[in-house]
Amino acid sequence: MATFKLEVVTIERAVYSDDINVLIAWGSEGQLGILPHHAPLMTMLQPGELIIRKSDSEIYMAVSGGFLEVLNNRVVILADACERAEEIDIRRAEEAKQRAEKLVSSQLGKADLAEAEAALRRSLFRIKVARKKRSTRSQSQIKPMDSNFP
Ligand code: ATP
Repeated sequence: MATFKLEVVTIERAVYSDDINVLIAWGSEGQLGILPHHAPLMTMLQPGELIIRKSDSEIYMAVSGGFLEVLNNRVVILADACERAEEIDIRRAEEAKQRAEKLVSSQLGKADLAEAEAALRRSLFRIKVARKKRSTRSQSQIKPMDSNFP
């Protein structure tokens, strides 16, 4: 099966680097399904889920926004933060969710509210991606996502 190179990096570390078959991500214009030899592309990434298909396996990651570039059969994701599903500490994400929910429901100024909503969104995606990995659902098929919201 044809492949392309995916590299996911943050300012802190290289999260992932491998030859893969399919990448599903959420760009600023909506869901992107990237296959080998995709046309050149540069887009901002929405916070959410990355799904990687490689041979018969799927890898899930939570990404907190960033940039995605496709060039010469290579995709580079410069992520604000990114964790593979198995790296996610669900308890930490649940705590972050509770903190953010409290903040969102309190009287905040516009900027603080936007920050609290972003933190809430990050925590929800981390929980969703971590649970997905732990679930026993079939690994053999990528299911299209209806929405990038958890
Ligand atoms: P928290 O309030 O728990 O720190 P946060 O959303 O503010 O969450 P970020 O600023 O997005 O955290 O990320 C800071 C660093 O911590 C990044 O390296 C990120 O990958 C990591 N990180 C954040 N939450 C988790 C988690 N639940 N499990 C594992 N790593 C996490």
